[in-house]
Order: sequence, then C-alpha cells, then structure tokens
Amino acid sequence: MNILIKNASVLTMTGDIQLMNADTSIAIENGKIKSIGQIPEGFKADRIIDGTNKLAMPGLVNSHTHIAMSLFRNYADDLPFWTWLFDRIMPREEKLIPEHVYWGSMLSIVEMIKFGVTSFADMYFFMDEVAKAVEETGIRASLCIGLSDSGDQEKKIRNTKEFYDNWHGKANGRISVMAGPHAPYSCGPEFLSKVIDMTSEKGMGIHIHLSESKKEVEDSYNLRGKSPIKYVDDLGVFELPTLAAHCVHLSDDDIAILAEKKVSVANNPGSNLKLGNGFARVEDMLKSGINVALGTDGSASNNNLNMFEEINLAALINKGYTGDTTSIPATTAVKMATLNGAKALGIDKEVGTLEAGKKADIIMIDLNKPHFYPRYNLVASLAYSAQASDVETVIVDGKILMENYELKTIDLEKVMFNAERCAKSLIK
Ligand SMILES: [Zn+2]
Repeated sequence: MNILIKNASVLTMTGDIQLMNADTSIAIENGKIKSIGQIPEGFKADRIIDGTNKLAMPGLVNSHTHIAMSLFRNYADDLPFWTWLFDRIMPREEKLIPEHVYWGSMLSIVEMIKFGVTSFADMYFFMDEVAKAVEETGIRASLCIGLSDSGDQEKKIRNTKEFYDNWHGKANGRISVMAGPHAPYSCGPEFLSKVIDMTSEKGMGIHIHLSESKKEVEDSYNLRGKSPIKYVDDLGVFELPTLAAHCVHLSDDDIAILAEKKVSVANNPGSNLKLGNGFARVEDMLKSGINVALGTDGSASNNNLNMFEEINLAALINKGYTGDTTSIPATTAVKMATLNGAKALGIDKEVGTLEAGKKADIIMIDLNKPHFYPRYNLVASLAYSAQASDVETVIVDGKILMENYELKTIDLEKVMFNAERCAKSLIK
C-alpha cells in the first residue's frame, strides 16, 4: 500500500536532528520511505494521512524490556532489588506457561504501539509466543531467550539455535534474534563460553544484563576479583555485537572497555530508580563514544512501557546527577530513544531515522494539545512536555498499526480480558 502523509512537521533525526516545516510530505511505497519533502512526480497514494498540526518522527525504540512481565505490573513494588527479584518475581515466573507469555506480550505490545514504540528488544521465556505476538500485531522486535546456567545447559543452547532458525528474519524481516545470557551472576564461565561459541557460529548478537546493582558488582569482585564488565570481556562476549542492559555501576576502566569493544548500552532510568539501583554514567559513556540507547525494562519494575517518560527521565536525571544543566539535552535524549536504539538492535540501516530508502517506521504526534503551545522548539517539547498519549498514528514497515488513536491490528478488549485472566491464574 502506498501512503502519503501531507502537511506535517517532520523530525527526521538525521544529521543535526533535522526538523522540517509544517508543510512537509512523506511518500511511503512498498513499506519504505520513498521521499520526504516534495511529493514525487507520478506518486499514487492509496491512503492520504493529513499531517496538519502533527509531528511525524521515527518510531521510538525500546532497547531493553521483558514484555510479558506486564502480567506482574504492580504486583511487587517498593521492595529491595534482590527480594523483588528472587523472592517475588522469580517464584511466579516458574509458574508461567506459554499462554501467559502470549497474552502478557500482547498487552505490552498494545501499550507500546499506543505510546509510539515501533521496535523493542526483549529477553524472556517461551519466546515463540512473543514472536507470534510480534508477527500478528505488526510491530518490530529483536528477541532472545533469557539463559541461565541452571538445569540442562545443552538443551538451552539448542533452544536458542532453534529459535534463531525458526524466527530470525521472519515477519517480513521485522523479527531478529539474539542470544540472551541473562547476567554474569546467573551465567558461570563455562556456560557463558558455550553461549559465545554458539552465538559466533550462528552470527548472532548478544543481549545481556550487566552491572545493574551495586551488590552485583561487589559480588563479582568477591567471587572473581573483577567487575562484571571485565568478566564477560575476558570470556570474549564483547567480540560479538553486544547490547548490554543497565551498566549502572561502572568504573573508568569498564567504560573504556565498553567503548573500545563498541558495546551498545541500554540505559533504563525508570527501572534503575524504582529498584534503587542508582544513576548510570550516561554523560561519561556518551563522551567516550559508547552508543547509549533507552529502555523501559519490564513493567514489573517501571511500571509501564512509556518511552516518553524515559526520554524525560534521561534528560532530567543526568542534569540533577551531574549538576550540569547542559547534560543530556533534549536532542540527545530523543536520539537515544530513536537512532541509538536502532543501532543497539543492529537495525539502524533500516530504521531509526526518517530518510528515503529506509523502512517506514513512523509515528505522528498530535500537536493540538495545550502543552504544545507556544511552539518554540518541538524537540524540547518531546523531552519536556510531550505525553505518550499524544501519539496519534503509528506506522511500522509501511503498515498502519494505529490511526487517529484507533488500533488497526489488535482487539484491545480481548487482550485486556485475557491478560487479566492470565495474571489472576498466576498470582492465585
Ligand atoms: Zn532487564
């Protein structure tokens, strides 16, 4: 289907974060952006979207989450991190069945589409169910099975290989697959080495949690005499394209390693605050050249999948934390949630900016709201004034998933009913 967006303001996120005037057109042909600016001669649109008083921009990328955990939203709050994880969340996760993961994923995908997320990176269990939900709904995702070294290690490695073979590149290329060793504290050296061998053999990337809590780092020094970053680097993890979630407690040496090995970092300011894990050194990481993206983490530790909130937090926290009001300006925060996210997922050649030839992953923000007036600086308004509920239209891969706030691929009532039913059966 050919789509023409007319008369919109357009934020391309290319070069110096180009913002185009309110009379710009975007032509979309066969899922890709054909042109931005003038309507190409002879272009025939099947659908015309009026962009008057709207801002078109790249869809947001949630670079670290566990979407099925929305079933645990508001179930275990205001608890110490290790109590939250090991005493409340993990015992419930052991009761999960595929159906739970499917409906939890559907619930989260609805939430993300409504909030303008067009791509996400997910680590969890029963990932076939997540992949099915992605395929059905039309969103884009990088998926991995969360791996720990308990139980049958060979079977776990096999499962990831099969998951890669079954889903990588599927859904018209909207699904990609990574390996997901959960964290240094849940993956000993022998198992992690096996995961690395399998990953490099398959040509996959790695998605891992690193240095999330102070305790994790202290335990790592006590057990191995080195930081979690140094531990996985010594084993060879960073020889593969790596997406490292959190990276909150870093030494200067850790930052140098991440920079040298071109590791992408998913910063999750909301989750880090809620679980009392502190503030990541985002400014230092960016200065050293590390690609820092933004994520929400799961809804059990946030408790939503609202990337506008993470953009706002990133821009505010780093000012408060460093005492420097120029730290993480609005343009940087928005870039972290778009282009940097696409780089972290390894899909920046396809999405992350709006430019001719790239896939049409576009969101449109309804600017006809009081908090968008007066209109001095739209990029600043995205970081400091916008609400996720201002997202009015969402296009992924050239397909309209939401238009005028109406979902096109998902039965919202059915999803909420089944998610509630699954959550009740899990918690009872
Ligand atoms: Zn996580």
